[in-house]
Formats: sequence, structure tokens, C-alpha cells
Amino acid sequence: MHNIYGLSLKDLEDYFIKKGEKKFKAEQVFMWLYKNRVNSFDEFSNIKKETIELLKQDFNMDKLQIIKKLEDDSTVKYLFNLSDKNKIEAVLMRHDYGNSLCVSSQVGCNMGCSFCESGRLKKVRDLKAYEMVLQILEIEEDLNLRISHVVLMGIGEPLDNYDNVMKFIDIINSNKGINIGSRHITISTCGLVPKIKEFMKTDKQVNLAISLHASNDELRSKLMKINKVYKISDIIEVIKEYIKVTNRRVTFEYIMLKDVNDKVENAIELANLLKGINCYVNLIPYNETSHIEYKKSSKEQIMKFYDILKKNNINVTVRKEFGSNLKAACGQLRSLYMEE
Ligand code: SAH
Repeated sequence: MHNIYGLSLKDLEDYFIKKGEKKFKAEQVFMWLYKNRVNSFDEFSNIKKETIELLKQDFNMDKLQIIKKLEDDSTVKYLFNLSDKNKIEAVLMRHDYGNSLCVSSQVGCNMGCSFCESGRLKKVRDLKAYEMVLQILEIEEDLNLRISHVVLMGIGEPLDNYDNVMKFIDIINSNKGINIGSRHITISTCGLVPKIKEFMKTDKQVNLAISLHASNDELRSKLMKINKVYKISDIIEVIKEYIKVTNRRVTFEYIMLKDVNDKVENAIELANLLKGINCYVNLIPYNETSHIEYKKSSKEQIMKFYDILKKNNINVTVRKEFGSNLKAACGQLRSLYMEE
């Protein structure tokens, strides 16, 4: 039996057609699920009994279970229990432009970045589309607010769970459903080159962010295992192609690790690497975790780095820190919980 929150509008239309029913019922179901937000099939009051029975036979509406919630002024961090007792996190950030949710895409992660808590615990499994959709629905309900932006920057590598992530985007992007605009959705990846190629050929207008974190291969290979497979030059090449095909600007994320990748030489090297590319760089103050020895760069060093990029005509921003006292770095809450 499938969870109904894992179906796109098109999937539901195909389902009804296969069952000899009218296709427009799919829109009605979407309205109940995503506009009216009812919690049982019996509340689909404009749909006839037999159709409801059919839906009940084939689908469930099971939710995730919220097992922990940590809150400060601008951030609410959730730990969810999945039906198989695996745990994932999602983080809600209140910005001045709206509410952004950082969604997990896998239980654990196999990318093994040395600074990241999620990778310390290996991947257990991919999340299904419904498990990503429900992170949004349940947090909206719990906080009684609307999420305007979704970033796939929680636990997991979204492009390593490609099909489920694409389905998830279809579902939340539908204007008959949650209706989160493509430009308000961001996929963050450590740089799986073949998947970026596949992704650029789709019609999805969502934003792409690349976790670069280093200005040369020697350094990047030390920080990110994946660099042994796809080098910085491979990433730059595919990103140039991506920009040509999609005409969209790309973000490069760069975590600031004290005395590791935050030197003046690194900033100059990074500026040279990105020269002429339609992108911007997001400098991320490292969120320190108790298991990993890296430290956050000082504010002065981050600003020095920022200035060098700026002087070299690179668009650059420093990410506002959210919930660092809430163990908000991806995987931190789950990892803490696993040790209890
Ligand atoms: N796997 C994807 C998405 C998940 S991580 C990716 O690699 O992009 C989302 C972002 O958070 C990545 O840029 C990741 O490198 C970064 N990150 C991981 N641990 C962090 C920490 N402790 N502090 C700050 N950023 C971190």
C-alpha cells in the first residue's frame, strides 16, 4: 500500500484513469490533501463513497511522528520518527522574506564529507517522496504557518536519491497542491556530475547549489571523498554547461573552516576558479560539532575572504547563522539522538 502523499497530480490522474474513473478527481484529492489539509479519506466530502473506498484500499495517509522539537527566535528544529523507526531532521528558518524549510532526503549519507555530521553515520536508506512532503506538511501544521522556501540541505545527498527527489519537487511545486514555486526550491549537492547533467535536461526551474568548500583539488579531496571521483574541473565544466542550458545562476557553497580553507590564497584561488561564471558564492560559517575537530573561521577572516571575492567581482554573501545553539548543522540532532 502506498502513502498518498507520494503521488504527483499526474500519478493520481493516471491512477483514476486506470480505475475507470474521471481524471479530474485527482485535482479534488489534491485539494483535500494540500488545500484543506484533512487527515482522513472520509473527509473528502465531494467524492463519492465508492471512490473513497477505492482510495482506502490502495493508499494510506500515515504521517511521520515528531519526536523532538528545539526552538529559538529564528529556528525550529524537528526530529521525526519514520514508520520503520529511522530518524530524520528538518529545520525551519524564519527569514524576513518568508519561512524556509531545510528538508532531509536520506537517512544518513554516504558521501562521507569529513566536516559533516550526517556522513559520520552511513546511509541507511533513501527517503521516499512522501517522507519529504510530510516534513513540510507536518511542520506547517505544527507551527500554523506557511513554508515559502524549501532547501534540500538536510541529511543526505539529494542527487543520490534522484527519482524520489524529482517526484518530491513535482508534488510540492504543483499549483493544485502545496504550490511552492520552482525559484523557491533549492537542491544542494556535493557535485554528482552525471546527475547534474541529467537534472539540467529536465524542465524543472529549481535552483542548484554546489557544495564546493575548497579552492583546489588537494584540499577538496581531504574534505570531501567525492572529489576523488569528480574533480573541481569536472564540476566547473558541468556547471558552465548547466548555465548555458538553463540560463540560471548557480550558487557555490563554501564552508569557512578555520586554518583549513579560509586563507587569503584560497580566496584568490576561488576567485580565479569562478571568474566569468554566472554564480554567487555563499560563505557558510562552520557549525561546530562535538565529534569533529574543525573550527569555525573568525568573523574577521570570513570578512577578509569576502572582500577578496568582492574585489574580484564575484557575487558573494555570508550566510546568516541559524540555530547553531540548537545543533542545527545537518545530522547533528539525529546523531545526538542515536547515542542516547
Ligand atoms: N549533500 C548535499 C546537501 C546536504 S548538506 C550537499 O553536499 O550539498 C547542506 C550543506 O551544509 C552542504 O553545503 C554541507 O557541506 C553543509 N554542512 C555540512 N555540515 C555542516 C556544518 N557542520 N556546518 C555548516 N555547514 C555544514
